[in-house]
Amino acid sequence: MSDETPVLILLGPPGAGKGTQARMLEEENGLIQLSTGDMLRAAVAAGTPAGLAAKAVMEAGALVSDEIVLAILQERMAQPDCNKGIILDGFPRTDGQAAALDQLLADQGRRITAAVSLEVDDEAMVERVSGRYTCGACGEGYHDRFRKPAKAGTCDKCGGTDMKRRADDNATTVRERLKAYHAQTAPLIAFYEAKGVLERIDAMAPIAEVTASLGRITGRVAV
Ligand code: ADP
Ligand code: ZN
Repeated sequence: MSDETPVLILLGPPGAGKGTQARMLEEENGLIQLSTGDMLRAAVAAGTPAGLAAKAVMEAGALVSDEIVLAILQERMAQPDCNKGIILDGFPRTDGQAAALDQLLADQGRRITAAVSLEVDDEAMVERVSGRYTCGACGEGYHDRFRKPAKAGTCDKCGGTDMKRRADDNATTVRERLKAYHAQTAPLIAFYEAKGVLERIDAMAPIAEVTASLGRITGRVAV
């Protein structure tokens, strides 16, 4: 048996459910969720140089430079908790990032366990993303139409009442993010297929079904 800890990659356009599923995997399997989007939003909020450079790019729905994203990701991956299994959510998004990830993992004596493509329809993504919001306290995700909390404005999970919407979650910016996805990220599906690590999941299915499909994949890779 290999003593390598799992490295899972979640691929898919904005709204495909990468964040939701990564959080489930973190809770249920003890994997560490590494979301470059969350890291960048934290950098923006903290006003770091990387955050200042990234803010306008993110609000326009374009991709932040590989240089900034790689610096942020590498710093996070150097933390000891990442020696457990990791789920990369929103990374890699370009050829350059994928190549850098291969190198980083090789340096750590690790490799990709599976790259999972969450397959969805673009039009549905515009609707999903434009209505979504999260609990500011615990990060639980909600949606104006598809996933309302039991009591409006109050988090089912932690009782928090500070709900947050992302600056880039509006219909116009989502269309730009979808374009960026198809132009720069979707080609990575073929890249991981050629490596023999690609798995495809129908992510138009209900959340619990997608979680079950991912569970079968992570079960196979012995998390
Ligand atoms: P989503 O997948 O729903 O678009 P994310 O939170 O993953 O949301 O990303 C939000 C924004 O952050 C992206 O539109 C992009 O500007 C930036 N971003 C996140 N991850 C990366 C990355 N790996 N490379 C470049 N930009 C990124
Ligand atoms: Zn909450």
